[in-house]
Amino acid sequence: MLKVHSRCDLSCDHCYIYQHADQTWRGRPTRMPPATVQAAARRIAEHAREHGLPVVHVVLHGGEPLLLGAAGLRDVLAELRSAITPWARLDLRMQTNGVLLDEELCRLFVEYDLRVGVSFDGDRAANDRHRVFAHGGSSHDHVRRALALLRRPEHRTSYAGILCTVDVRNDPDRVYEALLAESPPRVDLLLPHATWDQPPERPGPEPTPYADWLGRLHRRWVDDGRPVSIRMFEALRPGGGGTEAFGLAPADVLVIEADGSWEQVDSLKTAYHGAAGTGFDVFDNSVDEVARHPGVAVRQDGVDGLCLTCRSCPVVDRCGGGLYAHRWRTGSGFDNPSVYCADLLRLIDTVDAYPPPTPAESGEWSATSPATSPADEVLDDLATGHGSASTLALLAATQLSITRALLAACRDRSGATAAWDLLVHLDQAAPEVVRAVLAHPFVRPGLVHRLDSSVLPGLGAAVDPLPALAIAAAVRAGVPAVLHVPVRADAITLPTLGSLVLPGLGESAEVTVRPGGFQVRAGSVEQMVLLDPLAPPSTGWLPTRDVSVPGGPVLLEDGDPYRDCYGQPVASRLEVPAARALGRTLADAWRVVHRDVPAHAAALDGGLRAVVPLAPDPARPLRSATARHAFGAVAVTPHPDPETMAVLLVHEWQHAKLGAVLDLYDLVEPGQGTRIRVPWRPDPRPPEGVLQGVYAHLAVTQVWQSRAATDQPDASAHAAHFLAWTRDGADALLASRSLTAAGERFVAQLRHALEETRVGSR
Ligand code: SF4
Ligand code: SF4
Repeated sequence: MLKVHSRCDLSCDHCYIYQHADQTWRGRPTRMPPATVQAAARRIAEHAREHGLPVVHVVLHGGEPLLLGAAGLRDVLAELRSAITPWARLDLRMQTNGVLLDEELCRLFVEYDLRVGVSFDGDRAANDRHRVFAHGGSSHDHVRRALALLRRPEHRTSYAGILCTVDVRNDPDRVYEALLAESPPRVDLLLPHATWDQPPERPGPEPTPYADWLGRLHRRWVDDGRPVSIRMFEALRPGGGGTEAFGLAPADVLVIEADGSWEQVDSLKTAYHGAAGTGFDVFDNSVDEVARHPGVAVRQDGVDGLCLTCRSCPVVDRCGGGLYAHRWRTGSGFDNPSVYCADLLRLIDTVDAYPPPTPAESGEWSATSPATSPADEVLDDLATGHGSASTLALLAATQLSITRALLAACRDRSGATAAWDLLVHLDQAAPEVVRAVLAHPFVRPGLVHRLDSSVLPGLGAAVDPLPALAIAAAVRAGVPAVLHVPVRADAITLPTLGSLVLPGLGESAEVTVRPGGFQVRAGSVEQMVLLDPLAPPSTGWLPTRDVSVPGGPVLLEDGDPYRDCYGQPVASRLEVPAARALGRTLADAWRVVHRDVPAHAAALDGGLRAVVPLAPDPARPLRSATARHAFGAVAVTPHPDPETMAVLLVHEWQHAKLGAVLDLYDLVEPGQGTRIRVPWRPDPRPPEGVLQGVYAHLAVTQVWQSRAATDQPDASAHAAHFLAWTRDGADALLASRSLTAAGERFVAQLRHALEETRVGSR
């Protein structure tokens, strides 16, 4: 925490910096001088370099940091970035009262990817009870204007949340509503700083007014479906992970004051004059030296650093003795429970009285706890990079379930009861056949397109896909049937079987399933199609073609019209020599995957069912793609080199798996508008895109690490390159606070897998 300015334009009477025991601010420079900023940045960079830290969090604080003005703030941000980013990802934050916040500053925040928390105590009466100017005037409108600026779509990525200090004299419902009205990504509720020497205000006879007040707010929050992340409530849940104020995690905050002094956490200023001091400064002392200071070290000891009462407390793992400063009592120092002990005990009871949040509300998982649910197990398994056969089978089964749901929705829409009835009959008589047809990767795009043609633009007119699906299943099952099948561009496509392309078919054709094939009638056209490969070719019939690969046959899909769902041009049907050449490359590439990364090969064997050739583009000869609605398929340019093709297959299959996971679990907080900088793209990316990139690059890293182990030329350099990308992307995601609890768990496990492969490759 960097105290870049030590004065403030507000005069809040609950401020621990100016109104409580510590008064060291009086002897400090008004603003942090440039030489001190430089020395601080170098110390942080030195620590990141020496310990190989993936990410450093720096919070700009005050006083009021915006008193620096835009130019002064830019200087500080530039200094921090240039010193620290060569060694670690820099997560920049700021805590402000918002009074001076304007558009120019917002643009600066976005430019430097700086996340801003605003102090705001709720409705006008609540906020202005304490948060006023020196002349007593209200700050409420100023702060609301600042919050409105941060909420704008172009600034939203810089809106970190609201910090609200509790006052039990305020109306909890009105405070809750006022906070929610500002649409913050996160709310931090702060108990007013107090000690056993200066106990908190308890205006009524109730013994636990803070627990009662917070309990009321908690109930509203649960009843509303936990619409916003409230850190205090989440931290106090079993396995909630803790914060600086709760839990047993080691303290990881140090403060650099405006004069360059190293200090302990800021809240200690409430205990006594000089309580936060260490005697060290950034000019002469490193972070490691400060970390050995007894006041810092004792806060690394978990439960052993607490008083006897706390150590025997049944909820110590969640409470952690409360905020360190709140334990102070003259005589016994910090060796006491929190002055809020009774409130904390009761509040934890209140939190426990409600059911845990559903995954849709905020996820059940913390990043480090052992797997306790099937969802945990699936995510943990996939976070290894590849995923087991049973997980792949689960993903395939859930994708099929989604396709069936879409099919039912289309039935409701189309009224094609004959096709539906035939499918239902076949689902009972020959379920494996219906499963095989519905598992074809391009069935779902057709259904989605039929239900909403705006989802997959470029697929042309939407037709009812049910009759073609039913006929395909009937043909495969050898069950006689007659249906009218819609025609698209002179073609009828039967998924998994092929396409009949004949001029003059019109808009609809009668298709009759007969032994060995099917007959088509439309106007003057009458055509029998025999599917026996030994029979003479039927006019206009373009059968699908399989490629034999180590994992079994894979479809070379160059005919289904719904394969055109990748947002880039697909190749039209390949001539026989080109199809054979691609088939050979794919089979060789598959063997390369088995050679390099057998665990990924097993995952490919378990799920990849079709490969779509993309249209050649001399400007971009190496392209590949997956589509969220086409699980089981990847699209690639027909590159002749199996080693290259192997990397493309592994890379794209990661996207397909993660897409299926995202159909099941919310890993990214919805609707945040966050954008994250990543090393593999010039433009900041949304969190889901970063997650996809990280997951794909993890697998590519593993491929190159395996090749490096067999001394393939340049493999070590490629491995290091992709390792850095994956690590930086994962750290950026974790720092972005844009993941759900399940997402954080997934990325944290993935990060762990990355470290394992790194160690393994040494
Ligand atoms: S805005 Fe913050 S720093 Fe300024 S007086 Fe209020 S509490 Fe203190
Ligand atoms: S402060 Fe109270 S509730 Fe918290 S751990 Fe200590 S004894 Fe338990």
